[in-house]
Formats: sequence, C-alpha cells, structure tokens
Amino acid sequence: MNSNLEIHMFPCRSDNYGFLVHEPQNGLTACIDTPDARVILAELERKGWTLTHIFNTHHHDDHAGGNLDVKRATGCTIIGNGNDAKRIPGIDVTVTDGDSFDFGGHTVQVLETPGHTVGHIVYYIPDQSLAFVGDTLFAMGCGRLFEGSPAQMWDSLSRIRRWPDDTRIYCAHEYTLANGRFALSVDAGNEALKSRMDEVAEKRRNNQPTVPTTMKLERETNPFLRADVPEFVASIGMQGAAPVDVFAETRRRKDDF
Ligand SMILES: [Zn+2]
Repeated sequence: MNSNLEIHMFPCRSDNYGFLVHEPQNGLTACIDTPDARVILAELERKGWTLTHIFNTHHHDDHAGGNLDVKRATGCTIIGNGNDAKRIPGIDVTVTDGDSFDFGGHTVQVLETPGHTVGHIVYYIPDQSLAFVGDTLFAMGCGRLFEGSPAQMWDSLSRIRRWPDDTRIYCAHEYTLANGRFALSVDAGNEALKSRMDEVAEKRRNNQPTVPTTMKLERETNPFLRADVPEFVASIGMQGAAPVDVFAETRRRKDDF
C-alpha cells in the first residue's frame, strides 16, 4: 500500500505558487518548477524535507529560473521536456508526451501541452487524482499563447479536459479573480460561473488561495474549455463556428480585456 502524497503549496514572487510534493515512505520530495530558489529552500527547511526532484513544466524564468540554485543546494534530479531540453537549465532526465515514471510508488504521467510555450508539459498523477498544469490551464483561464497556435492550445486543453471530475488541478498562478471577471463578460448566463465568482471573491477578500481547482469546476466555468459547448458558443455569438475558432476568438478577447 503506497502512502498518499502530501502537497505543500506556498506563494512565490508576485502571483506564482510553489509546490512541494512529499512521499513520506521513501522520503522523496519533488518541487514543481522553481519560481524562487530562496523561498523553495526555506520551505523545504521549514517542512524538514530533503529535495530529490524538480519537475519542470516549461522554460520561463518564473518556472525554471531557480533550477540551478536549487540543484546546487540540494543535488536534486531535474526532470523536463526532452523536446525543450536546451531551455531547461540543469535538466538531468528528459520526458516527452505519453511517458510515465515512478515517484515513490505513484505513476506520474507526462503530457505535452504546447500553446503557452511550444515545450510546455504537465504532470498527472492518476492514483492521487491530481495534476500540475503549470501555465497551460488556470482557474477559469488558460495561459497566453506566447509561442503556440490557438489550434495547438485547444488540442492541449481538450486532452487535459478528459481527466476525471475530481482531479485536483494545481495551476501556477493566482489569476483567478481577473480570469473570472473576463469569463463573466463572455459567459454571463452561466449560473455555475456566477456562484463560483461569489466564492472566489470571498476567498480573495480573505487573502485565501483559489488553487487547487477541480476538473469539474473548470469544465463548468472555464470559457477556454467551453469552445464546443452550445450555450457558450451562442453566448459569444459564434453559432456554427468550429470549436478551434471559438477558442481563438475567446483567447483574443481575453488578451484585449
Ligand atoms: Zn510561463
């Protein structure tokens, strides 16, 4: 019987989250990305955990910028996308789409989710019903398309959307309130969205995190997962359009919002 993974989440920089994933039986600890080496090392110390791995989602500085400092301090192994290895500082182990690896008796599945960057990957741990999605999916939002096309991002999100309802989604930024305001502007008739926004506003007033979210909540309220849902398509006035075009238009409006 494997022990459950313990997730320790903490704010970093202005709006990033850092995550430590601890497996007590074998004493393994992974850090998801390295937004701030100093904060990560302090949190490890506070928990009394020894870092064994970094799981990188993509190369941006607020995700991989602390890799070398954290590796120097801990001797950990860095896992990242083999197709983007040149941009992942200190990478030791390369993974690509469809790969899985063992983490203390738990299978970690890797999906490539190009869009935000072309080399973005996410980590899904089915037996714990949780996933680390970096800057691909946010609560009621998705990552900006810095490198990939709308078609790539829509395909990436469509694959993530197949995870079960109860999957806990750990996204890398606290963008929820702003995302929700945009979502209401394009999906005003969505009752689930309205009630979620009341809860989110209350949480943020009390300075509480809105991460993790769940797959069920995102399917119901995230406009970027609803480009093929008739009510949403009608709401933005694109009846008959292909889902990828609805997605692209939604993303364009968000960029201008
Ligand atoms: Zn990024």
